[in-house]
Amino acid sequence: MMPLQIHERISPNHGARKNPARIDLLVLHYTGMTSGEAALERLCDPGAKVSAHYVVEEHGRIWRLVPETRRAFHAGRSCWEGESDLNAVSIGIEIVNPGHQWGYRAFPEAQMVSVEQLCLELMSRHPIPPHRVVGHSDIAPDRKSDPGELFDWPRLAAAGIGIWPAAKPPAPEFAIDGVQWLADLTAIGYCTAADSYEPALVAFQRRFRPARCDGRLDPETASRLAEVRAAVARSRVASSEPGSDVEAQNSP
Ligand SMILES: [Zn+2]
Repeated sequence: MMPLQIHERISPNHGARKNPARIDLLVLHYTGMTSGEAALERLCDPGAKVSAHYVVEEHGRIWRLVPETRRAFHAGRSCWEGESDLNAVSIGIEIVNPGHQWGYRAFPEAQMVSVEQLCLELMSRHPIPPHRVVGHSDIAPDRKSDPGELFDWPRLAAAGIGIWPAAKPPAPEFAIDGVQWLADLTAIGYCTAADSYEPALVAFQRRFRPARCDGRLDPETASRLAEVRAAVARSRVASSEPGSDVEAQNSP
């Protein structure tokens, strides 16, 4: 891979990682501001107390704001696979886009090329398995909707970044199991409960069934949950197998 061209712009908003040796989660965001410059200013404003390790502009320029050895302030109150304090174990990438509030739009090709190259480069240096590449809305579904349903997760998955199992329409006889779907949602990593599942279901749809993100448990969503759960299980096995790339990176 060609060395990535990364521009430095230092944010003061970072802290110590509890365990600097553990970085195994990649969180993708959109900036949700009117311009890239406005987002960069905010992410570097000591009064804002927010940051990310990287920012990718719409024309593809990559900025590093916080060293990977430090904890950036991007995830906020969040949870994945039963674990909170995700800033401690993650790298955060902010992808410039006005977001749902300011005119949500497709992510340009030049930007996606940079996002893809940056993610691959990070995953080559840290033991981040594909199922541990998530969107902000996955880990904070009641507060966040980024990077949103226009984000091209299938493209990234084709490059090994995140997972995207082939989507098959549910069989005509498919019936929604009253408990299985929630077990699937939880097994994938979403932190949710039977009485407050709707935001997590919307987040799941944004990510894996973006054509309709209404939080309703229709047959297509239930069947997609099972497909994604199986793909996550495969990714977990692959990333824990001795001799796999991830294991090799963990070795001294
Ligand atoms: Zn975010």
